[in-house]
Amino acid sequence: MRKNSKIAVIGGGPMGMAVAYELTLKGYKPVIFEADNRLGGMASCFDFEGLEIERYYHFHCLNDKGFFRIIDEIGLKDQLNWKKTKMGFYYQGRLYKWGSLLSVIMFSKVSFFTRLRYLFHAARCLTIKDWNHLDNVEAVNWLRKWLGEEGYEKLWKKLFDYKFYQFSNHISAAWIWSRINRLGKSRKKLKENLGFLQNGSIQLINEMSKIIKEKGGEIKISSPIINIKPLKKSGAFIKTPTDEYRFDLVISTIPLPLVGEIFSKSNINNLITNSYKKLNYVACACVILKTKKKVTNNFWTNINDSRFSIPGIIEMSNLRNLPENITYIPFYMPQNHPDYLRDDESFKEDAWKCIKAINPNLKNKDLISSHCSRYKYAQPICEKNFKDKLPDQEPFNGIFTVDTTVYYPEDRGISESIDFGRNLVKKIIKIK
Ligand SMILES: Cc1cc2nc3c(=O)[nH]c(=O)nc-3n(C[C@H](O)[C@H](O)[C@H](O)COP(=O)(O)OP(=O)(O)OC[C@H]3O[C@@H](n4cnc5c(N)ncnc54)[C@H](O)[C@@H]3O)c2cc1C
Repeated sequence: MRKNSKIAVIGGGPMGMAVAYELTLKGYKPVIFEADNRLGGMASCFDFEGLEIERYYHFHCLNDKGFFRIIDEIGLKDQLNWKKTKMGFYYQGRLYKWGSLLSVIMFSKVSFFTRLRYLFHAARCLTIKDWNHLDNVEAVNWLRKWLGEEGYEKLWKKLFDYKFYQFSNHISAAWIWSRINRLGKSRKKLKENLGFLQNGSIQLINEMSKIIKEKGGEIKISSPIINIKPLKKSGAFIKTPTDEYRFDLVISTIPLPLVGEIFSKSNINNLITNSYKKLNYVACACVILKTKKKVTNNFWTNINDSRFSIPGIIEMSNLRNLPENITYIPFYMPQNHPDYLRDDESFKEDAWKCIKAINPNLKNKDLISSHCSRYKYAQPICEKNFKDKLPDQEPFNGIFTVDTTVYYPEDRGISESIDFGRNLVKKIIKIK
């Protein structure tokens, strides 16, 4: 590729930023097109009544290598902090300790044998190196086999039901394994250690944005791409609502079904567009509450309580030093689920009811403020044999289309998106 090749990066989330960053390091001058009026995608921030905070909670694990590499390179290493975090389990109206060996052993709501099976399975997950044999296995059956019916029903079922609903029985075991493995490996002397940037993920996004611009890249926010017309040789004409551009290389990092929609509008054949549109995602309505008192001492509390369709709550102020008590309450559901049409107020009400149930000492006067952020592509639904379902990463010469599905079985994550984006650039430069 010539150094003066014109390169477009679609999407200004962590992956798009990493792609553009890597390109500028190699001497190219890419242009980022971001639909939103801010950068960061799922890792972006908002002003929560004077507190600049992420729309969705983020933490890092001890094995987030791609993330460590980039923060080291751009001089943010000293901004990374670690904390030993606590976990809880709100089970049928009572809060239990969870996550440590002892807490599982002490959890009397399942038989002792089931507790042992749970621990044995967690340990087994840490020793699996090759996940390919789990790709065509359903997670539900895999967990039932390891934990037994009681273990699955009481310890896992609600987590599936309140995230995947009708897809629960089809999730790939490889995907669940990678989640258990990631958190399991984030332990020092068996204690969970989670990391965070002093001022949140936006620090990384801002720093990357600064470097991209300093090195001659360009960033266009509020610039959604609405049309992509492939060129015969390489690249495409791409369109925003106001302008049209010609690029030799286009790298799209936006959710793949959105690429399918853009391709449809660009009259690209159905066979290609359908391979993008058929992928399913979970949407998230994520409530964030500011309260006078903390809810628990945990960072993460799993929930199994039929009154609430909430898989867990995340108390960010028990991880990061924040001036106020901040709790995230995510409501996940497949993006076409009718509940996603509920208004923000009803999600906030449900979230507050759940918080008050977990900690009955919290009264209405303790709620300072609340907010609900939404994203329709919060997580791909990785069904069994998922890797066979993914569309070609380069459907046309010089047009690459990738998103968080491409690093399956890893769950979507900042580190994974960054690492994938940077490696993709290295690969493209080698072959083009
Ligand atoms: C509730 C929640 C909790 C999470 N917790 C963690 C965590 O603890 N740790 C962790 O590492 N990760 C976590 N993540 C995941 C992490 O935020 C994502 O993996 C990461 O942000 C993905 O980055 P991305 O750039 O690949 O995609 P995205 O962040 O989805 O970025 C895609 C970008 O494309 C833009 N776009 C869409 N359409 C267009 C268009 N037509 N034209 C131009 N731009 C467009 C979007 O506005 C967006 O900015 C969490 C996510 C959620 C939702």
